[in-house]
Amino acid sequence: MYYGNKKQFMLDIIEKIKKSGLRGRSGSGFLTGLKWEMVKNAPGTKKYVICNAAEGDPNIFKDGFILRNYPEEVIKGIEIALKVIKSKESYIYLRKDYFQKYKQLLEKIIKRRKLSTKLFKKPGGYISGEETVLIRAIEGKSLEPRKKPPYPTTDGLFNLPTLINNIETFYFVPQIVDGRYKKTRFYSLGGEIKNSGVYELSEDLTIETILKMTGNWPRFKFFVQVGGTTGEILLENELKQKTRGLGGIIVYSFNKTDPFILMNKWIDFFRQENCDKCMSCREGVYRLKEILTPSKFDNKIFNDLVFILEKTSFCPLGKNISLPFKSLIKKIING
Ligand code: SF4
Repeated sequence: MYYGNKKQFMLDIIEKIKKSGLRGRSGSGFLTGLKWEMVKNAPGTKKYVICNAAEGDPNIFKDGFILRNYPEEVIKGIEIALKVIKSKESYIYLRKDYFQKYKQLLEKIIKRRKLSTKLFKKPGGYISGEETVLIRAIEGKSLEPRKKPPYPTTDGLFNLPTLINNIETFYFVPQIVDGRYKKTRFYSLGGEIKNSGVYELSEDLTIETILKMTGNWPRFKFFVQVGGTTGEILLENELKQKTRGLGGIIVYSFNKTDPFILMNKWIDFFRQENCDKCMSCREGVYRLKEILTPSKFDNKIFNDLVFILEKTSFCPLGKNISLPFKSLIKKIING
């Protein structure tokens, strides 16, 4: 129980989060404490908190793990955020199957803690986890990203200041506030390994150490993909570095993996999951698919297509699609 100055207490929470160095799990890795401060200071009498548990990447499964094991901690994190930004309005934005599985459990905790947090079932696929799409989805609009700036911190849900964090962030907040935070993060380990699953380990570990300490260092020649499906391909001698973004590590056997089959799997995913809003991404992934066979592959066409995708796509999905392809082609096909 805290008996001191309430305003100072809220500022202290922001300072604690800032000092912890906690960052968002998207590619930009924005500082969580700074984001909370921006929403707190944004003008507006009504504000929102949104917990994003939309998890649409086929290689990442940590949101489901957190929901299954730590729903109470997540709701506590949302409750702290509501107090800090002085709001009563919050949403948990859930992937469809997570909504079905955890609705009852979450509602029970929400009721017990006397919150008015609403659960929202994500209506679409991968792209509807992007923060501006997520906002538009709750507003009942089409599932397309919108331009940033303005950012949700000032112009979010219904054009009001909105604090959007991943479920993993809300899980860590109570630990930071209580002084229990040990600078861990969640890693989703998959592919050709013995012990696939989600691990909560120090955020400072290298990929090599993570694979070794979880008993997943392969005995065969391999390469990995780090982050998520838009993550870079790394060779065995490049693993003395930390993971990025979503914390996924997927292991592929050199001998058993056909690089063209793998690239087709990625491109089919992107073709299905993009929103068709902009021509460069909509047409670009279609054209990429056409050349992803050993007989049709052409370096010049490939480089032209990824140049257009990177420079002219409207949102981060289109801009980042090229990364796994470029690194795979450079290191495995042309390497
Ligand atoms: S880059 Fe792709 S996902 Fe993003 S807006 Fe354009 S079509 Fe949609």
